[in-house]
Amino acid sequence: MKTNTVSASGPGGQPSEFQEIIPSREALNLGGTVALVTGGNQGIGRAICGRLARDGFQVIAADLQLSPSPPSRDEAVMLESGVTGRLLDVTKPAEVAELVTWIENDLGPITVLVNNAGIMTVSSLLQLTEKDLREVFEVNFFGTFFCTQAVAPRMVKRRCGRIVNIASIAGKGGRPKFASYAASKAAVLNLTQSYALTLAPYTITVNAVCPGIVRTSLWEQLDRALSALEGVAQGEALRRRVSQIPLQRLESVDDVANFVSYLVSPQGAYITGQGINVDGGLEFH
Ligand code: NAD
Repeated sequence: MKTNTVSASGPGGQPSEFQEIIPSREALNLGGTVALVTGGNQGIGRAICGRLARDGFQVIAADLQLSPSPPSRDEAVMLESGVTGRLLDVTKPAEVAELVTWIENDLGPITVLVNNAGIMTVSSLLQLTEKDLREVFEVNFFGTFFCTQAVAPRMVKRRCGRIVNIASIAGKGGRPKFASYAASKAAVLNLTQSYALTLAPYTITVNAVCPGIVRTSLWEQLDRALSALEGVAQGEALRRRVSQIPLQRLESVDDVANFVSYLVSPQGAYITGQGINVDGGLEFH
């Protein structure tokens, strides 16, 4: 990575023991390179893919399912302009490694990784089973870990990269009706900080975005389960929660995608280790 080195002066114009390293403009501009987005077939992930493609990235949307479906696991499918789809189960480290090798050999270096694939289960906490908990952690936590472990060493060699984990405001506090999901996202937030500290010396930033309530198939599923648990009509659980959003509207997939775009742009270069809420004001920490 190219850098411009500026010697900083200490008090009284004395040379400081610190140097201010300012990455050159071209080093900060990752556009035109490859972005890997997991769970990119639909919802928030699909919006992130479209936005990064419009920003100039060559985007790989990797997902358990793709529409249209490719003929085989090794085939690529065009999802939209600039976005290529490949099948991937993020819980399988061997599949992740294979995909990352294919991308780097055939398309180019991955400079942006967005760990977006996620699932949720709903149950009251005392009924939560080990199986449910493991299933959610497999995708949300281990999926993030496997993808990052596969991509980060390559970024380290190049001393360049941006990693964005899609966490949730649920990771910032207990959620008795979806405790497994909340715990998995809290673990992702903590892992984000450890990766940020590990990768900072290599000019790689690692951040988490915490959306609030975005109407995707995940929330449709959540609404059905929560409404049943709360004994109210379908749609009511969502309506109640939306009425508490200070900005008084549902979050859109683009609200999340726009912020991911910012984090991987030159403007986001000095942000790392953060778990940033993009939630219309629901959470303050
Ligand atoms: P979604 O269900 O619409 O999309 C999730 C995608 O992940 C799907 O395409 C699915 O096939 C894929 N996926 C699931 N398991 C996978 C696996 N093992 N390997 C690869 N892909 C897999 O959900 P969404 O709302 O778009 O959620 C995207 C992310 O945003 C998730 O991490 C979710 O936890 C997070 N999030 C969503 C909301 C919300 O309100 N919708 C709020 C906060 C955080």
